[in-house]
Amino acid sequence: MICIKAIRRLDPDHATMKHIPFPSDLLEARVPRYTSFPPANRFSSDVGPAQMASWLDAVPDGASVSLYIHVPFCRRLCWFCACHTQGARSDEPVDRYLDHLEEEIAMVRARLPVRLQVSALHLGGGTPTLLSPDRLDRLAAMIAASFADEDDREFSVEIDPAECDGARLDRLVAHGLTRASIGVQDFDPTVQSAIGRQQSAELTAETVQALRDRGIGAINFDLLYGLPHQSQATLADTLRSVLEMRPDRIALYGYAHVPWMSRRQRLIPDHVLPNSQERVAQSSMAREALIANGYVPVGIDHYALPHDALAVAARAGTLRRNFQGYTTDEASTLIGLGPSAVSRFVQGYAQNAPVTGQWQSALSGGALATVRGHLLSPSDRLHADIIEALMCSGSVDLADCCTRHDANLEPFIRIARDAVKQMPGAARLEGTRITVTSPLCTRLIASRFDPALERSEGRFSKAS
Ligand code: SF4
Repeated sequence: MICIKAIRRLDPDHATMKHIPFPSDLLEARVPRYTSFPPANRFSSDVGPAQMASWLDAVPDGASVSLYIHVPFCRRLCWFCACHTQGARSDEPVDRYLDHLEEEIAMVRARLPVRLQVSALHLGGGTPTLLSPDRLDRLAAMIAASFADEDDREFSVEIDPAECDGARLDRLVAHGLTRASIGVQDFDPTVQSAIGRQQSAELTAETVQALRDRGIGAINFDLLYGLPHQSQATLADTLRSVLEMRPDRIALYGYAHVPWMSRRQRLIPDHVLPNSQERVAQSSMAREALIANGYVPVGIDHYALPHDALAVAARAGTLRRNFQGYTTDEASTLIGLGPSAVSRFVQGYAQNAPVTGQWQSALSGGALATVRGHLLSPSDRLHADIIEALMCSGSVDLADCCTRHDANLEPFIRIARDAVKQMPGAARLEGTRITVTSPLCTRLIASRFDPALERSEGRFSKAS
């Protein structure tokens, strides 16, 4: 049963914004989301096709890898969205994309060892469900031709309820779908008009039911707070509808207004956006409502039912952070295919050309489409470990990390002491362990251990 009281208690009239203990300059701070370290906007052109090829060559025999395939098309282009995607009214560019994807898969596979396990496959975008049933069959055949199927492989797909039907779901299920990820954002019509995305609660519920009817028990929802015209009241209404559908996982992200990076976001005027205090109030209200209704908080912005693998991993301390947010995937190699896709190797990161035409040109010329990336130094690995631990569990023993990386502990203790002093109530330091005490401050605390932040501050989304 939905605990509406927990939502009503946090409706605007009862909102406890005056209790928010953080000064506004902290809430306004722009820091990375740290889905990777270093963040992707610090990748450089030092990494190209030759580096990518050598990293593929070095993947050990019998390794476990995960695959991410980026489908860079949407029938509708939502204004809030900063994903690498483009409008596609016809299927002609989609077929051309599939032709090139087939070339890329073959090129990448040829460099990998014969024995390989694919532990996870994720179709993201863009809108993967824009592919017609026969194109989904073609994509599945391309993957199967190069990568052996594994019985326990997770196959997750981002599903747009406005661009999906029973025939597509049937094909995805036949190809092994295990988890569906559905973008919701907010169901309020005014908010939806302001972000250029119409999607009713009814249509979403029909898609959820259609998935469950086909035996898909693992369903994720993506929600946003901080959207134009969004209020605690609209978010509370959305949460009521969402809780009735009871997805297994909910990602609740703060809308990142970065119009200097995303041209579409220029359609959203600044003055209709909630301010930082209101963003914090929305996030806090949603957090309390989800916890009151049986969801376990995972990391800084995910919630999962206790049986879900993400909640289990959070309890076991095995949660990982990747470009999709949080994951249970333990593979040390992630191979990204398609325009803008990022690959992660133990040696570093490699990103494909973000523009579909550039990606296609590289492949047509017989080359891998890598255009940027980052070679991890020993120092990067240490900072990445500290930041990932903070982002996943909110706590890290700095002495353990420094011992593992053969580094001097003292500078890190100094950073931790300064952070605790400058942000009272945000974190505590006990011995050599720093623990974040407010999830809202996790990115801020993590950013203190990011040596390059000063050079790039101002290009990220708000910490709140
Ligand atoms: S939110 Fe989804 S459908 Fe909308 S533009 Fe972004 S990827 Fe496309």
